[in-house]
Formats: sequence, C-alpha cells, structure tokens
Amino acid sequence: PVKPRVIVVSNRGPLVWAERCSGTEKKVAVSGLVSALLPLFRTVHGVWVAWGGRASLPNEVGFLHQEGDLKWQEVPLTEEELRLYYDGFSNQVLWPLCHYFTEKCAVEPAWWEGYKAVNKKFAFFTRKVDWGADLIWIHDYHLALLPALLRQRGNEGKMPRIGFFWHIPFPGPDLWEIVPWAKEIIEGLLGADFIGFHTPGYVENFLRAATAFTVATALPGQKGLIYRGREVTVKALPVGVDHEFFAGLSRDTKVREQAKLIRAQVGTEKICLGVERLDYSKGVLERLVAFERFLEENPAYRGRVSLIQIGVPTRAGVGAYEELRRRVEDCVNRINSRFGRSSWTPVWYLARAYSQRELAAFYLASDVAIVTPLRDGLNLVAAEYVLTRSDTDPGVLVLSRLAGIAHYLREALLVNPFNIAEMAAALRSALEMPAAERRFRQRTLRQRLARRTASAWVRSFLQLALEEAADEVFVG
Ligand code: UDP
Repeated sequence: PVKPRVIVVSNRGPLVWAERCSGTEKKVAVSGLVSALLPLFRTVHGVWVAWGGRASLPNEVGFLHQEGDLKWQEVPLTEEELRLYYDGFSNQVLWPLCHYFTEKCAVEPAWWEGYKAVNKKFAFFTRKVDWGADLIWIHDYHLALLPALLRQRGNEGKMPRIGFFWHIPFPGPDLWEIVPWAKEIIEGLLGADFIGFHTPGYVENFLRAATAFTVATALPGQKGLIYRGREVTVKALPVGVDHEFFAGLSRDTKVREQAKLIRAQVGTEKICLGVERLDYSKGVLERLVAFERFLEENPAYRGRVSLIQIGVPTRAGVGAYEELRRRVEDCVNRINSRFGRSSWTPVWYLARAYSQRELAAFYLASDVAIVTPLRDGLNLVAAEYVLTRSDTDPGVLVLSRLAGIAHYLREALLVNPFNIAEMAAALRSALEMPAAERRFRQRTLRQRLARRTASAWVRSFLQLALEEAADEVFVG
C-alpha cells in the first residue's frame, strides 16, 4: 500500500533545543505525545511542524531538520510572540478557562492578536512543508485557529484532510461566554474534518458551544455537525498509554531495586504518592490539606504513613505558577513542622522532573496513588500507576471525579477533590482496603486500560480522520 503523507502540527514537537556548554543542540523531547507519535513516522511519510522550545531572534528563518525517520519543520517564535501567544492567550486565557478557573482568565486583546498572528505563522509553515499531504493532524488549544486558516487558503489543488485533537477539557457555552473571541476560536476548530476529545462529556460541550456560537447545526446522535455545507465529525477518543512499556518497567530489576530504596528511605509502613506538574488545576494544595486532615483525625497513623509529592516546575513565565509553588512549600512546611519527628517526615516534597523509569520506581514503592486534579483533560499518571502495578501486588488509586480518565476508571476510589473531608476518609479506606478488594479493582482497572494503547489511539485517529483512505494506513 501507498504510505500516506501526514503532517503533525503541535506547539512543542519531537525535538527541542537544549542549552549545552558548547552552545545549543537538538534533543528528543520527553512527552506523552512524542512517544505516542514517533512510531507513526516509521509507517507514514511524516513531517512534524512545531516550535523548538526556545525564543528565537526576529530574523531567524525556520529550518527543516531531519533525524532518522523524523522530519521536523521548526517554527521560530520570538520572545514577544511567546509572551502573547503562549504565556498570554494559551496559558492565561484558554488553559484556565478550560479547567474552569474563570477568575484566572484575563481578557487581554493584545494576547488575542498575538495568538492569531502565531496561528497564522504555523499555517504558513504547515503549507510550506507539504501541501499535498493526505492528512494534517493538529494538536491542542494553542492552535485552535489553524484548521480554518489552512482551509481558507487551501483552494489551490487537493485539500488535505484536517484532523484536530483537543487534549484538555472542553467546557460548555456558558464558560466560553467569558472569552470575547469564543466564536472565532470555535469557527477555527470547525475548519477540521474530524475533531477528537478525551470524553463524551467534552464532545457534548463542544457540540453545544458550536451550535450556540456559530451557524453549525448538530448531526443526529452526537456524531458531529454540519458547518457551511461540510460535515465535521466529532468523537471521544481518549489517548492511550503504552501498557507494555510500564509492565516492562515494573519487572525491571533495577527499577524494583530503586523502589525498595525509596521505601527504605521513607521508612514508613505505608506510602502515598502524588505526581504532577505543579499546576493549579492539579489540586496539590487541596490534597496536602486532606493529608493533614487525615493525620489530625487518625493519630494512630502518625509515624506510619508518609506522602511523597512530586511537583514538576512548569510555566515559569506565568505569575500564578510562582504563587502556587510558594503556597505548596508553605503547606508542606506547616504539615511537617506540625506532625514531623526526627524519625518521620510526613510529606516528602520533590520539586523536580523524573524520567518515566524513575517514576515507575515511585509507582511501585507506593501503596496508594492520590490523583486528585480539580479538573484534568484525561490524566496519564493515573493510568501509568495502574499499569505499573501487577494484579498480585496491587496498589490503590484514589482518583478525582473531575479528571477525564475517571469516566473510564470507575473502579478507582472516586472522590470530589474540593471535598477535603471526603478525601481524608478515602485515604483511610485506601490504606485499609482488604487485599481481595484491591486485587479485584486493580484487575478490572488494568483490563479497562489494556485495550487503550498509545498506538491504538494513533491508529483510530488516523482511520477516523482519513475516512475513505483509511485502509491504506495500516502498513505498520
Ligand atoms: N511525567 C514525567 N516525569 C515527571 C512527572 C510526570 O515523565 O517527573 C510524565 C508522566 O509519566 C505522564 C505525563 O508526564 O506521562 C503527565 O501527564 P498527565 O496527563 O498526567 O498531566 P499533564 O502534565 O499532561 O497535564
């Protein structure tokens, strides 16, 4: 079969520039999207269009780089463009809005102008690399205007299919009302032929928002919309996690050794774990307060249980993140000075990023994973925790009902992350859960995830987005 030609477009791509003593050099980026999509480049003729993770000078041209199977078209962005488009509109309007933090949303016309300009720049580079592609696959909220921009200017020759995957929650029309440019954003997305979201709830919100703000009309059965005479298919298609990879790590003797070392160092009978980028949407403060409440209410557990909280620094250019970091540190210090003893540290706060191999050791070392975002598109950590544990040595997953993945993982201990009392009680239930129940839940959760691998997600997306050309895609 003919190899399809696919262009992937996302804000950050497969390669990023890293500072070295000898100057900057390219390195492979570590992200779920990159590991899910890299194998695709072996089976299609692919080019990835993305920013390289560092500010460029105003006169820099974007090069097409090649590394093995991978072609990367760099989109150079200046400091000013990044301030308006990335720190501004993407991360201080769309991100807080879609995570229901409306009070953190600023209406700033200059950011919107910057966002439009950078989306146009991405459109320019996408057209430049390969206008004869079969599919252009665009990712996430940074590039909402790109589908319509590409369609507008694509009347010469054959129009590629355009697919879009929205990786964060999608709120309903009442929230979009806050953004003066909601209509343009949704019209931007409607330039696509196929739009994927993580859950049926986000699909429903998108359909409601699209019919409220634009002339689109709904197709029967929540299958999509008719927009300006064209069909736009919309579907829930949650990103998958590579279960073989995590199962492999859990059998790795070095990883198991490392898990033992973590247990020995923490030294308590039971360990709870939180892992995330330090983002206000992740509910880290609320979780710490719930742990404090648990220690207050359960004196018998003092000295017997610790919480390891990994908080990866993120988005240094946005003030709300700096403030959150300070509040989390204060909260950890308060709990540790209130309850800690020389032989026991209640909260181990680790403010750095770990490799997934290192994370697997933390997953294996903990009895309970507490994944309690206040709102989250999907949440991969919850899935990774389950997939790293075996059915014979299960942990317990305490999971926020407001994480997208809770739609699929009903056998976790589901909690409302705003309800501190409920979380403290769930923590106790998790620590005391009988082995048979733990095994049952673990087995069921793992089975639910086993069907959803990262490569199955990529295949389904391509098949749905390419429609009639789909048969030819299955070359790998
Ligand atoms: N992760 C990592 N190192 C860390 C913390 C997290 O590699 O120190 C990875 C983690 O394994 C997961 C991803 O980052 O694959 C986080 O994805 P998630 O959906 O949980 O949250 P996001 O950060 O995308 O909002």
